[in-house]
Amino acid sequence: MIAEGPCDGLTFVELAARLERDGVNPVHAAALFRHLHAGGAGEFEPPLKRWWEAKSAEIRTTMEVVKVTASADGWTSKRLLACGDGRQVEAVLMGFHGRLTACLSTQVGCAMGCVFCATGQMGFQRHLRPGEIVAQARVLSEVARARGQRIRNLVMMGMGEPLHNYDATMQALAVMTDTRGMNVGPGRVTISTVGHVPGIRKLARERAPYSLAVSLHAASDEERQALIPVNRRWPLAELLDACREYEAHKGRLFIAWTLVDGVNDSPDHARRLAELLRGLDVHINLIPLNPTTGFNGGTSRAARQSEFQKTLREAGFPVTFRQARGLDVAAGCGQLAAG
Ligand code: SF4
Repeated sequence: MIAEGPCDGLTFVELAARLERDGVNPVHAAALFRHLHAGGAGEFEPPLKRWWEAKSAEIRTTMEVVKVTASADGWTSKRLLACGDGRQVEAVLMGFHGRLTACLSTQVGCAMGCVFCATGQMGFQRHLRPGEIVAQARVLSEVARARGQRIRNLVMMGMGEPLHNYDATMQALAVMTDTRGMNVGPGRVTISTVGHVPGIRKLARERAPYSLAVSLHAASDEERQALIPVNRRWPLAELLDACREYEAHKGRLFIAWTLVDGVNDSPDHARRLAELLRGLDVHINLIPLNPTTGFNGGTSRAARQSEFQKTLREAGFPVTFRQARGLDVAAGCGQLAAG
């Protein structure tokens, strides 16, 4: 069954089937897919051209750029995008060492309610459709192309919990990693989760070729529940079991830990984290808390951050600080909130 509506959420095979159903030889799918996802210009051959002209209103997902905010350092720009129904999401383009990373949203708002997160503070509005996820990447790709670059990495770390919108996220990734279109290598895709256990297990079962970043932030259920309410539903023991399952399929696993001053940034927290992760092949990303108006936690002090990192390193884990990008435009982790 081929979805009705815009074609930019369709995989190559689905797009070819859609053309065939409309009486166009599916051999034209390559030109159309390239045009939709790789900015291919060029003239279409007559059958495709006729189809394109007849269907132009329903081929692409509408995603209007409402506002662009660029960071002072020039590395990051955030775009507020309006969906067809007027709801808004944010997509962020970040440059690291000259390589561009797109950070995409998967939901309008989020149901997970993490207390430090601006998106969580909005509540859940709705899931994005595959075409709406792909359309964010298309908008950012156009910016990249104008600079003579292309998007190298995708992080599903914008608004929403991607694994709560599993099917749409996977469908969009299948489109965006297709070599005939946007061609982002699957190994350059990271899905971020706050610990959606059924989603992690499904990724493992399906042997998804993407990296997974699990936001832990606390090493006991009691502490974690205070920051991440869904820990009540999927407690740490279950979450770590799911991580082991994911790791067993040889996916790359990252642990994200937001450092909140006086809350989870002591050497004791680091030791307990190391204990919890023992036996897992993980890379730990430390993220100094990004300020949001709805959470009164503070950013961990520099000395405590270094001590935390040192303790984990001594326990044998690779640990890096995730580079803070775009804090001045509220495009850092946990700061996206459609406004
Ligand atoms: S941190 Fe992620 S999962 Fe938690 S509320 Fe924010 S967007 Fe949702």
